[in-house]
Amino acid sequence: MSSSEHGVHVLIFPFPAQGHILPLLDFSHQLLLHGIIITILVTPKNLPILDPLLSIHPSVKTLVFSFPGHPSLPFGVENVKDVGNSGNAPIIAGLSKLYGPILEWFKAQPNPPVAIVYDFFLGWTQDLAQELGVPGIVFYTSGALLVSIMGDIWRNFGAYKGLGFVEFNGLPKSPRFVREHLPSVFQKFKEGDPTWEMVRNGFIANGKSFGSVFNTFEALESEYLGFLKKEMGHERVYSIGPINLVGGPGRIGKSNVDDGGNERVFTWLAECDDGSVLYVAFGSQKLLTKAQMEALTIGLEKSGVKFILVAKQLSAQQEEQGYGSVPKEFEERVLGRGLVIKGWASQVEILGHRAVGGFLSHCGWNSALEAIVAGVLILGWPMEADQFINAWLLVENMKTSVRVCEGPNSVPDPIELGRRISEAMSNDLFKGKAKKLRDEALEAVKIGGSSKRDLDLIVRELTQLKSRKFI
Ligand code: UDP
Repeated sequence: MSSSEHGVHVLIFPFPAQGHILPLLDFSHQLLLHGIIITILVTPKNLPILDPLLSIHPSVKTLVFSFPGHPSLPFGVENVKDVGNSGNAPIIAGLSKLYGPILEWFKAQPNPPVAIVYDFFLGWTQDLAQELGVPGIVFYTSGALLVSIMGDIWRNFGAYKGLGFVEFNGLPKSPRFVREHLPSVFQKFKEGDPTWEMVRNGFIANGKSFGSVFNTFEALESEYLGFLKKEMGHERVYSIGPINLVGGPGRIGKSNVDDGGNERVFTWLAECDDGSVLYVAFGSQKLLTKAQMEALTIGLEKSGVKFILVAKQLSAQQEEQGYGSVPKEFEERVLGRGLVIKGWASQVEILGHRAVGGFLSHCGWNSALEAIVAGVLILGWPMEADQFINAWLLVENMKTSVRVCEGPNSVPDPIELGRRISEAMSNDLFKGKAKKLRDEALEAVKIGGSSKRDLDLIVRELTQLKSRKFI
């Protein structure tokens, strides 16, 4: 009998979006290093994303089902990157039609998985796990504060519905937000719509999971991890991050700076003083409007600070829709002081360069963790989704970051923006706090650290599942 027929086997079910799939693959890498047998469920167009993992671990099995589709998705779309955030709900609903095929597959396995580890957007998997009699373990590619808030909102949806301002008094430190700054899922939720009801039920079902794994670490979110343990009534709430610090194949293969290449960027950085450069980027999806791009570029120019600006290449249609490219002549005007990357940047490597001291960021969770790991000061401009909540955690709660603008449509006053950038970049107190948080993240993943301990605990839990019947 081969080890794949009797070892501890786990089914991994990622959600097909950049910020979701890579951290879960990194976590899978960690499980593989601990000898766990892994099958990963994807739809055909997402299969290439697994290549780096498969090249390191040829033993990984893939379970490929055709994407069942959804009426509101263009034909052929299987990943959020092809449609933007509006694709989340229909992709969740589309994937839920795999319930039956997964059930059948499970029953046909000689060594069926002892657990299903699924992305938190796919909460319907919890019912499937229950029907199969195996534990469902939810993997959160987000922070514990966000999940605490989401749980609270779903529980009190009726009470919060009409409010312009929500104060979460049941949570540590009572965070408060204007309605527009709550996660997009609440702004978009349509009561009675089957797709949205499925999304809501999925998030609620996550709370009943056997265990929860978070890409976060205790020094950053201990009070919210503790809160969730109480809420869930057990200790199986694991923080194993920052997963990008532990390392894994999710990080490989996305470093094609397309205009001049990495060499141009790193040659330029090599000439800059330690901590002097501001890196400016807004994640994998967000596009700035023409007015925002103009204000940002003027602000950068006025700040007097050295910078790298990442600007996505726009299609003709996006330009017609009012999105903005870097204004002509800007690069010439800032020659020597600023660099523009058009397209995809090697964000992790750039943040890790000794010359980079600040990151003007939309506060996406992955970007935030990458900045923390690099010990770089975050200058937040939260725009949508979970970003306002992440910014609250970093700015108001941890007091390790500053906010320079907020809102998806806000156009900052360029003079004021320039002043805030220049002030932040010369603030040694904040830069020192960023370094301290980095040290705490480093400690967390070392032997004896909280994330290493939790990773070992979850591995032990999975291994023990093999020898006991789960009810
Ligand atoms: N990213 C990158 N280069 C880019 C833009 C984004 O490497 O030019 C990566 C970034 O390092 C991060 C992810 O894409 O890992 C973005 O995730 P995040 O949660 O920050 O934001 P989202 O894209 O989900 O809004």
